[in-house]
Amino acid sequence: MAEPNVKRIRTCIGCQRQAGKTALKRIVRCPDGSVRFDATGRLPGRGAYVCSVECMNAAFKAKKLQRALKANVEKDDAEQIAAQLSAAFAGDENDRS
Ligand SMILES: [Zn+2]
Repeated sequence: MAEPNVKRIRTCIGCQRQAGKTALKRIVRCPDGSVRFDATGRLPGRGAYVCSVECMNAAFKAKKLQRALKANVEKDDAEQIAAQLSAAFAGDENDRS
């Protein structure tokens, strides 16, 4: 039986930091095989979580992202995802102020 009050803890693939789902951003491998930033956190497919753009870049370089998603990630895609993550994290900062 599922526990209704258990928070969904996720682990950043870059630094292994654990945090609630909302503190981490999701990267998803879509069913069509493309890898992208999941702004809504609801896209179908295999997901991986990062807590910062630095962790995304580190995870990509160390091939942790590729391993987590069981997918090939092109450098262009990684750069695009990093840019989108950067904007998303910046948006979170604005929400807090
Ligand atoms: Zn991290």
